[in-house]
Amino acid sequence: MRVLICGGGVIGAAIAYFLSCRGVAATVIERTGLACAASGKSGGFLALDWCDGSPLDQLARRSFALHAELPGRIGDDFGYRRMTTYGGFYGGQSRHELGWLSPQVALQQRPLGSAQTTAQVHPAELTQALMRAAERQGAQLRLGEVTQVVHSDGTTRGVVVDGETLEADAVVIAMGPWSILATQWLPLPGVYGLKGHSLVFQTGAQVPAEAVFLEYQEPGGATHGPEIFPRRDGTTYVCAISSESALPIDPAAVAPDPGAIERLETMCARLSPVLGAAPILARQACHRPVTQDGLPLIGARAEPRRRVRRHRAQRLGILNAPATRRGDGRADRRRRRAQRRPVAVRPGRLPAFDPRRLQQR
Ligand SMILES: Cc1cc2nc3c(=O)[nH]c(=O)nc-3n(C[C@H](O)[C@H](O)[C@H](O)COP(=O)(O)OP(=O)(O)OC[C@H]3O[C@@H](n4cnc5c(N)ncnc54)[C@H](O)[C@@H]3O)c2cc1C
Repeated sequence: MRVLICGGGVIGAAIAYFLSCRGVAATVIERTGLACAASGKSGGFLALDWCDGSPLDQLARRSFALHAELPGRIGDDFGYRRMTTYGGFYGGQSRHELGWLSPQVALQQRPLGSAQTTAQVHPAELTQALMRAAERQGAQLRLGEVTQVVHSDGTTRGVVVDGETLEADAVVIAMGPWSILATQWLPLPGVYGLKGHSLVFQTGAQVPAEAVFLEYQEPGGATHGPEIFPRRDGTTYVCAISSESALPIDPAAVAPDPGAIERLETMCARLSPVLGAAPILARQACHRPVTQDGLPLIGARAEPRRRVRRHRAQRLGILNAPATRRGDGRADRRRRRAQRRPVAVRPGRLPAFDPRRLQQR
């Protein structure tokens, strides 16, 4: 079976890896660069049970376990580690023990997560490691822009990449927020981009494995939810300040909103004197793929056809990437049959987006 995967983010790379484990010839087609978008600029935070009670609980729990197995399984290092996770707000006073945080940060008494339930990866390194492992098993990465899905007799036959038609038995749409462009080629629900800004600091050994989720109010009144993730490589990632700024068609054209980075730098200096004094390695923005109901789109668009078409959009895509497409053995096949994709994540649950609306944007 030949599968073409449109989009080289964490979802495309994870699908390529798990397909290659089953001997499927997978090719990832990426327009700009592997992990150039949210998959390279997100937090990489993972939680075992934060999707409990939602249709994603099994997917998230299975993915959390797979993240722990992956470094050994693919023999690569992408900054995976367990961590303790705290919640709180800025503007109070508490006698917390996180010496790198400002005393004006008040933390909840009970951590949000322990080393048993929360962890992290470096998302760009994870995506690259998955793609490397897939390539070792025969998968390919091809740079190019997908501009069309080719059909005949009501069946998907392949895609057009930079003017050339590539044939396939199945096509996967994994273009993150750019998946909305695929509504011009297939009847699919809309995927939208929610922009987020982030900074990466060089903090060395000053910040231990402690993730922090805070509430913060700017002097002007705007409220934000900064998330702080110290990483194993001696950097600390902070994201906050979401916006609904338009998604550029070209992923390479994504840039921070005017003033957002300066506001984020001010916020970080207030939250932590260590961050206030640390060199900044990256000032960046990216778009999180979101759907109308907040759940991912996972599954075949036209179920009865032999050639399936799948479509993904993940709010917590780094966490959920491994189990989005998994299956590498007979025993696993039996288990998968028992755990069919819940109806809640199938693309057919939402109405197709009218691509004429793209022209109006
Ligand atoms: C600020 C922020 C923080 C986040 N933090 C976390 C977190 O801590 N934990 C977590 O689990 N999730 C987090 N997320 C969410 C996570 O980053 C995303 O869900 C995930 O990266 C989406 O991966 P993807 O592969 O679907 O899309 P993307 O990473 O957007 O990849 C899509 C790819 O498709 C390519 N593409 C687009 N158009 C074409 C085309 N025509 N042809 C070929 N290729 C094309 C793009 O160049 C891009 O590389 C965060 C998101 C944001 C914005």
